[in-house]
Amino acid sequence: MKFNPADNIQDLQYFGEFGGVNPSISDSSTYTFLSAKTMFDTFEGNADGCYLYSRHSSPSNLYLGEALAAMEGTETANVAASGMGAITPVLLQLCESGDHIVSSRTIYGGTYAFLKNFTPRLNIETTFVDITKLDVVEAAVTKNTKVLYCESVSNPLLEIADIQGLAALARKYNLKLVVDNTFSPLSIAPAKLGADVVIHSLTKFINGSSDTVGGVVCGTQEFIDQLRNVNDGASMLLGSTMDSVRASSVLKNLRTLHIRMKQHSYNAMYLAKKFEADGLRTVYPGLTSHPSHSLFTSMMNGEYGYGGMLTIDAGNLEKANELMELMQHKNLGYLAVSLGFYKTLFSAPGSSTSSEIPEDEQVEMGLSDGLIRFSIGLDANIERTYQMMKSCMLEVGVLKEEIAKALI
Ligand code: PLP
Repeated sequence: MKFNPADNIQDLQYFGEFGGVNPSISDSSTYTFLSAKTMFDTFEGNADGCYLYSRHSSPSNLYLGEALAAMEGTETANVAASGMGAITPVLLQLCESGDHIVSSRTIYGGTYAFLKNFTPRLNIETTFVDITKLDVVEAAVTKNTKVLYCESVSNPLLEIADIQGLAALARKYNLKLVVDNTFSPLSIAPAKLGADVVIHSLTKFINGSSDTVGGVVCGTQEFIDQLRNVNDGASMLLGSTMDSVRASSVLKNLRTLHIRMKQHSYNAMYLAKKFEADGLRTVYPGLTSHPSHSLFTSMMNGEYGYGGMLTIDAGNLEKANELMELMQHKNLGYLAVSLGFYKTLFSAPGSSTSSEIPEDEQVEMGLSDGLIRFSIGLDANIERTYQMMKSCMLEVGVLKEEIAKALI
């Protein structure tokens, strides 16, 4: 049967302590043992089903982790206190001093800063490449390379990684392919396409209510056990643990992810087509003008669409700011970073989420200062939203009246 991530989540059945329809929240940092021997065995990782201390694992975190592993089709998963709290231990677990990483150059600014500024202190170097060019990726691999790192849909340029092609390179050179799938949950299942490790910032679409930060690492049992190892596991020792109460609330939100993703994708596709037809420079993987439209189509679980993220170019930063302030004033969304909320969120990445990337590198990768990144919300009447956005664009001069008229 075809892999369907939402069916896999639905097929999981958890009950609470008293038969509740939601699992009970484990409200404890530590756990008792009837025998000292079992405590020792648990420390050694040899007592299945026993809990020791909640930084290592807790029932609530395991429930959420198992649901996310089911979604990604991996053996298991480990949740973390934030997306960065998932990304950084993975890279530090896979690399040691002297190792090398080949990474996409268009990635979330925090990840970029970690690889560019932080890991060199540990003598781990990164080469940033155009991830859409497999020959360029291959040419960057050295004898010290351990990891290929990318986002399935990149932040903020919405470049698409050829996960199968990258997985083939990873196999050829014995590397681990690590994919951040934050922008495309359900739509793309990187592990099914050959990725070794799949990461999400749960802060975004998966939780969907902009009320918490969270992260997850999905992978093999062996790798997740390594991350959690009490002696040398980066997740265990760096301590970025999610709180049980949060794990429980993220799990409840996960249950509606499939409905939300369809609506985010529907609305984003609607607006992208209209904006493009109005003559705006619009980037959305669902548009046939997107250079990787067919690649995305070949990788996707069709029913969840091309995702909720799109960008337009307002020409320059002043125009972008003017437009975003006006759209917020008209209650069309919020001038805010992050994504995956019920309400549309917009920001100019060059001066916000990607500001860690130096200006000259932004220019080189095609990140113009007038770029606005939209996370399209769950608006019930998207035509109405479009009309209101268009009038804002006309008012600030991002859309020219004559051009708009000529196009009607
Ligand atoms: N990965 C991507 C693609 C992101 O957009 C972000 C945050 O914006 C992160 C990772 C980091 O996640 P968090 O903010 O939950 O640490």
